[in-house]
Amino acid sequence: MDRLQDTLGRVFGFDAFRPGQREVVEAVVAGRDVLAIMPTGGGKSLCFQLPSLLRPGLTVVISPLIALMRDQVAALREAGVVAGAMTSANDPAETNRIFEAMEDGTLRLLYLAPERLANPGTAAMLSRAGIGLIAVDEAHCVSQWGHDFRPDYLRIGDLRASLGVPLAAFTATADPATRDEIVARLFPETPEVFLRGFDRPNLALAFEPKREPRARVLSFVRAHPGQSGIVYCSSRKKTEALAEALRGAGVDALAYHAGLDGETRSARQDHFTHSDGVVMVATVAFGMGIDKPDVRFVVQADMPKTIEAYYQEIGRAGRDGAPANTLTLFGVDDIRLRRRQIDETDAPPEAKRADHQRLNSLLALAETPGCRRHMLLRYFGETPTEPCGNCDLCLTPPETFDATEAVQKALSAMLRTGERFGVEHLISVLRGENTDRLRQLGHDQLRTFGVGAEVERGPWRSIFRQLYALGFAAIDEHGGWGVTQAGWEVLRGETTVDLRKDAVRKPTAREGKRTAAASLDAADQALFEALRARRTDLARERSVPAYVIFPDASLIDIAARKPGTLDALGACHGVGAKKLATYGDIVLEIVRDHATAQRETQPT
Ligand code: ADP
Ligand code: ZN
Repeated sequence: MDRLQDTLGRVFGFDAFRPGQREVVEAVVAGRDVLAIMPTGGGKSLCFQLPSLLRPGLTVVISPLIALMRDQVAALREAGVVAGAMTSANDPAETNRIFEAMEDGTLRLLYLAPERLANPGTAAMLSRAGIGLIAVDEAHCVSQWGHDFRPDYLRIGDLRASLGVPLAAFTATADPATRDEIVARLFPETPEVFLRGFDRPNLALAFEPKREPRARVLSFVRAHPGQSGIVYCSSRKKTEALAEALRGAGVDALAYHAGLDGETRSARQDHFTHSDGVVMVATVAFGMGIDKPDVRFVVQADMPKTIEAYYQEIGRAGRDGAPANTLTLFGVDDIRLRRRQIDETDAPPEAKRADHQRLNSLLALAETPGCRRHMLLRYFGETPTEPCGNCDLCLTPPETFDATEAVQKALSAMLRTGERFGVEHLISVLRGENTDRLRQLGHDQLRTFGVGAEVERGPWRSIFRQLYALGFAAIDEHGGWGVTQAGWEVLRGETTVDLRKDAVRKPTAREGKRTAAASLDAADQALFEALRARRTDLARERSVPAYVIFPDASLIDIAARKPGTLDALGACHGVGAKKLATYGDIVLEIVRDHATAQRETQPT
């Protein structure tokens, strides 16, 4: 067996490389300079952790967040790898332990915060330590144009030059400008660049128009009992209110936003990371620091700004590769709010136009009648062929109807009211509502007044959203809807339009089950729960996050295979030699007990 595969199984307990990992690992092991761009959850850490075991010398890992470093070090230690993190949060005993391991040559990975590089002692220490490889996590932090710029990252180039060792840089940020800047600042010559596919097939995708959003979020969260999740909202106030509503429903939910003091924030983040089944209701302030692989769902209670933001946020679910569920709610008000936010910035006009364009792409994704993942991947420059089978539109293909006449009515209502009004007013005109405002404006005298009375407000909103997403209407900076060139073609009868019927979707039985243990039948599910409960105890005893003991994907595999021997257990996902030695007997006992209980409840 080849030694990469062997180390992957023996130490990390994985039976296969994730797409793209092997190529990167090979290049890093061979000592070439590497820039790897992989989506969040793609398994970047393995691409430097595994090589560190096969290369001579110590591997230094530059990583921007203390919490991430500590979790990775804890996970490595669980796998039997000697690793340490030098951070400002270390106690002297911890630091001593690292120095000793460095001295006797057993230390394989040393994590360092970039700030350490400013310290003159660090360079001297590293040159004595016999460094064989520098790995840079979150390499986009070196880019001054990005949003996460860390000035100390600029020191990495010098460190590399003084140590004269290969450097492997990793990031999930794909835009070409950032990529070029990373290359220019970290490498003396162009490195080998790996750009990995952006598909995350384990994430179920779904969009729904907003109707009673709070009730919808509650029902969605309830369909995932005991699972960790994130609910993103657009405002601080909303996070507080929703978190409270969820707590009222018995969910362990916490709010998180930039208005909370640092201590509260880090306490809440800690609780989220280290416990099972916590739901964080957050603004986008809850972001980069989250490295929890077993987040089982993400809900966007308000529409994000761009497809990039959409994908980054939902991408925080299912990093362990096990199934995870996502839901994005969007409404006309969201769209209007976003437009206003864009227009109210001081950005130059072309930047605003670009922002509107980005929002349009997201709307088109929300309103697409075909496979959502297709559209998403095409946006990222990929060319998928098969429908994904794991988005709302693949699972329940939308019914469409010939909406040509309805769209013509809507567009004509815009024209006849002077292209100055928003959706709600236009719908009132179409439905022929008898209000003072309409009479004052004389809109009750228009030819379009009441021509759409047979359609309810909700369906009209859906028609407006869709005709907008399809480019038949434009919205000006005051929220006024106007007819576009493409819209005129519809008005003139040159194009017909099929739109989706937006039936109110009831949460399906599937929704609750499309979760981590979806593939398990009821009996296996019980075993999974038993394993999970034990894992919680173990995690608590050792004060490490639960996934450090075993990720969900391991427990699912164990529950399905029910190993009877240590060998069989070792063949399960994520069970390496060290974990087998530490937890093997405990796990086998749970599996045995479960089998006995099963037999006793079976009628004979
Ligand atoms: P990211 O690319 O976001 O940094 P991580 O390195 O944190 O991703 O990996 C995400 C999760 O995937 C981790 O829980 C990790 O253990 C798991 N993982 C990585 N490689 C594999 C693999 N080859 N097989 C199974 N799971 C893997
Ligand atoms: Zn699909």
